[in-house]
Amino acid sequence: MPRHIRMPDTGEKIRVEGDRLVVPDQPVVGFVEGDGIGPDITRACLRIWDAAVEKAYGGKRKIHWCEIYLGEKAAGLYDGEYFPQEALEAFEDVIVSIKGPLTTPVGGGFRSLNVALRQDLDLYACVRPVRHYSGVPSPLKHPGKVDVVIFRENTEDVYCGIEFKSGSEENAKLAKFLREEMGADFFEDAGLGIKPISEFGTKRLVRKAIQYAVEHGRESVTLVHKGNIMKFTEGAFRSWGYEVARDEFGDVTITEEQLYNEYKGKQPEGKIVIKDRIADIMFQMMLLRPEEFDVLATMNLNGDYLSDAIAAEVGGVGIAPGANMSDHVAVFEATHGTAPKYANLDKVNPGSLLFSGVMMLEYMGWQEAADLITLAYPELITDGVVTYDFARQITGATEVKTSEFADALIERMRGGIDLEAKRKQQQEQLAKERRQREIRRLLEPMEEMIATGKVPTAVSDLMTRSLITVRDEETVEVAMHAMADNDVNAVVVEPDEGGQWGILTKRDIVTKIVNGGRNPSTTRVADIATRPVLSVPPETTIREAANILSGNQFSRLTIEQGGRVIGMVTEDDIFQTVEKFGWSVE
Ligand code: NAP
Repeated sequence: MPRHIRMPDTGEKIRVEGDRLVVPDQPVVGFVEGDGIGPDITRACLRIWDAAVEKAYGGKRKIHWCEIYLGEKAAGLYDGEYFPQEALEAFEDVIVSIKGPLTTPVGGGFRSLNVALRQDLDLYACVRPVRHYSGVPSPLKHPGKVDVVIFRENTEDVYCGIEFKSGSEENAKLAKFLREEMGADFFEDAGLGIKPISEFGTKRLVRKAIQYAVEHGRESVTLVHKGNIMKFTEGAFRSWGYEVARDEFGDVTITEEQLYNEYKGKQPEGKIVIKDRIADIMFQMMLLRPEEFDVLATMNLNGDYLSDAIAAEVGGVGIAPGANMSDHVAVFEATHGTAPKYANLDKVNPGSLLFSGVMMLEYMGWQEAADLITLAYPELITDGVVTYDFARQITGATEVKTSEFADALIERMRGGIDLEAKRKQQQEQLAKERRQREIRRLLEPMEEMIATGKVPTAVSDLMTRSLITVRDEETVEVAMHAMADNDVNAVVVEPDEGGQWGILTKRDIVTKIVNGGRNPSTTRVADIATRPVLSVPPETTIREAANILSGNQFSRLTIEQGGRVIGMVTEDDIFQTVEKFGWSVE
């Protein structure tokens, strides 16, 4: 195959050292012009990004662009090949690239180029920041309250494409297996689809979302799921998400339960709150209380719906940016298509690609250049200098061409923007909003929880997470002090030699020590602890837990995950949840 991609003679490649992206001052960055309106918006955006970098760093930093060919332009160069192997290698080589929209050729068994790119480069996270820029038309009363970054899983879920057509041989085979061997029951003519959600896929996505939240000083990460209905896929996504937060980010995260129970609603400095919401409630919440949400981690399909819906709230479907990322390789892209009817008219809005470039600059650590664009943009829109799509929604606006919009934005950036003052203003505003949320939580914690969409569904919603543990060889007296000092009715006993966890309750003290006439200062915990404990996984529903407790003489369950006890739920917890939230929780 002919080779056409030329690395620029100047500039240095971005590289990965250990776990870190190392971006030189003169990096080589890839770009794909794209089809249809692609060349118009790419041309305009390259000029804007270069100008922002020039202005922010006074010539010390500069991007050296390397053109990568995909789509129609590639087909012209590579004998009809829309997705040349050379392009794939180049994306990996340069690590950071940005692309315009691509036409998916109709017929002929073509894979969508975008899907191919995601699969072949294992770009497992689709990242979509959605926020409002003042002046942009929106259907909301307070669009400024929306400021979220969605991390959507890109490789699993129903998009894996494991589907079997109704009436096909494969369908019949699978249906027979499901009915006869798995006890499943469904209508005769059902089409069948399989939705795999793995621990590996979930954890790498949630890890990326939490890392982003840490690096960008975000307040919370919300796991979006439908775990009340699909326990072993959606529910597992939620459990694995909490697990990765606890195991890998334990020092910088707390759960929402901890926020309310341990910290009484006051978010500790430097801690990110990990919470979860049921997908359908999340749609409501993004309309009613969008300010409560920050970084969202979702599976593929939920994230697909949610990212477009939230973008529409801020009038930003046409300007919503995006990126597809693996651990390090990242391809930033316009989220709209090629709008062929506007191709080469120099007419459309460059916003989506422009803000994808802002994300790219942030990813490279070039925040000052990114901020220049983010701060200059709303000034222009507020002045009514807009492309045709916004002009038709803003009375009295001045409609400009794509290239003219770029000129105006560059001029605005060059005119000077007081980055420090703007940042300070933004930080003060954020701190004010944060205080308001905190006051609401402090004053009416339960009402706040309900108002922000929290619905307890699984035992992990009610469990006590910060457990007090004692060891077998300690005396019962030590355990009693631990219960009294921490005001708890039970302590968890660390595993014995056989690896079994135990539990010791106040009731054990009454029955086995007081009533049994034993001395607490000489009796060892191991002598009276209950083993084995009644343990369930975190995704166990409240009803299942109630059922297990009803069938046993115990009044509490331990919650076990990965061979560790991570929490405890008592009859009292279940009673209180039902009393507060009502019994419609499943
Ligand atoms: P589209 O290209 O996104 O265009 C749909 C409509 O959205 C346009 O007619 C226009 O609305 C508006 N629009 C899109 N981009 C705009 C911009 N930059 N500024 C202002 N308005 C903009 O969707 P499509 O017509 O369904 O798809 C066309 C082709 O794009 C298809 O071949 C599809 O496969 C491909 N596609 C590629 C990507 C990608 O590469 N990421 C994504 C989606 C689709 P008005 O007509 O109201 O002005």
